[in-house]
Amino acid sequence: MAMKIDLRAPNWMPDDELRQELLSMMPEADIYTADDPGDADQVNMLVINRLTPGEHRLYPNLQVIQKTGAGVETILADTTLPASIEVTRLSTPAAAPEMAEYSLAYVLQEQRHLRLYQQQQKVGLWQEKKPRIASETCVGIMGLGRIGQVIAERFLLNDFKVCSWSRTQKQMAGVDCFSGEEGLRHALAKSDYVIVVLPVTPDTTELFSYPVFQHFKPGSHLINVGRGELVNEPDLMRALDEGLLAGAVLDVVSEEPLPSDNPLWMHPGVQISPHISGYHLGDAMQDIVENYRRLLAGEPRINVIDRQLGY
Ligand code: NDP
Repeated sequence: MAMKIDLRAPNWMPDDELRQELLSMMPEADIYTADDPGDADQVNMLVINRLTPGEHRLYPNLQVIQKTGAGVETILADTTLPASIEVTRLSTPAAAPEMAEYSLAYVLQEQRHLRLYQQQQKVGLWQEKKPRIASETCVGIMGLGRIGQVIAERFLLNDFKVCSWSRTQKQMAGVDCFSGEEGLRHALAKSDYVIVVLPVTPDTTELFSYPVFQHFKPGSHLINVGRGELVNEPDLMRALDEGLLAGAVLDVVSEEPLPSDNPLWMHPGVQISPHISGYHLGDAMQDIVENYRRLLAGEPRINVIDRQLGY
C-alpha cells in the first residue's frame, strides 16, 4: 500500500515538498513521487493537481484519487475513470476566507468608485461621486457551498444585503436563498454584484451566457472566482458592450494562463487576476493524511465527490 504524489506543479508545490510535509504527519507511510515512482502496483492513492485521461490505468490497485484543491472537473472529465475509483477533494480552511476577502475588495472598490478616482488623479481632476451604501446594495452568491457560505458571512458582516442561489434550497440566517431555474432569475434580478463560486459540472458549464446575462440587473457586476468554464466569455463581452451589466472581475478564465492576445485583456469592462483569489491551502493538507489513514483503516473518506453530481 502506497500513496503517490504527482502534482506536476513545481512552481506551486514541488512533489518532494508535499511528501516531506505529509511524512511529518504520518512518518510510517510509503509515499512515492514522480521522481521516485516506486512500484505502481502498490499505489492505492494518487495525489494530483491534474489528471491525464487514462492515467489511472498505470495503477491497477488504485482506490482513491485525491485532488490537491477543490475543483475536480478535470478529473471527472476522464470518461475512462472506473466508478470504483473514489475522487476526493480538499476542504478550504484558508482559501474560502481569502476568496471572501478578494470579492469584498472588488465590491468596495466599486462602491467607493476607487477606479474612477485613479483615472481622475492621472489628469488632476477633483470631482466627487456619491458612494454607494452597503445596506442598500445586494450581493448575490451563486453557489452557497463551503466557500459561498464564508463569502456570504463576510458580506453580511460588512452590512450588505445578501442573496444566494444553489442547486438545492438552502437556509442561512440573513441570506435570501434561491434555488432552481426560476430562483436564478430572482437572485440575478436582485443582485448588484453576482459572485460566482460554483463547481464546473454538466449543469453549470457556460451557465453564464447571453440568455442569463439578460437577467442581470442593469449596472451590476459579475465576479467569477469559481472556474472560467462557468462563463461564456464572448457572450460576456457582448453583454458588457450592450450594457446588460456594468463590469466583470475574472479571477478564473477558460484558458489559463490567458493568452496575451485574448480580447478579455483589453476589454474596458473586464478586470483580470491570475487565479489567485483562493491562494493558500492552510491546514487542508491534513485532509490528505486523514483520507490516507481512513483508506488504510477501511473507513469512509472525507470530502468525497459525488460522481453523478460532479462536485
Ligand atoms: P461546494 O461543493 O462546497 O459548493 C458548491 C455549491 O454550488 C453548492 O451550494 C451547490 O449547491 C452549488 N451548485 C452545484 N451545482 C449547482 C447547480 N447546477 N445549480 C446551482 N447550484 C449548484 O464547493 P466549494 O464552495 O468548496 O467550491 C466551489 C468551487 O470554487 C470549486 O468547485 C472550485 O471550482 C472553485 N474554487 C476556486 C478557487 C480559486 O482560487 N479561484 C479556489 C477554490 C475553489 P447545493 O448546496 O445545493 O449542493
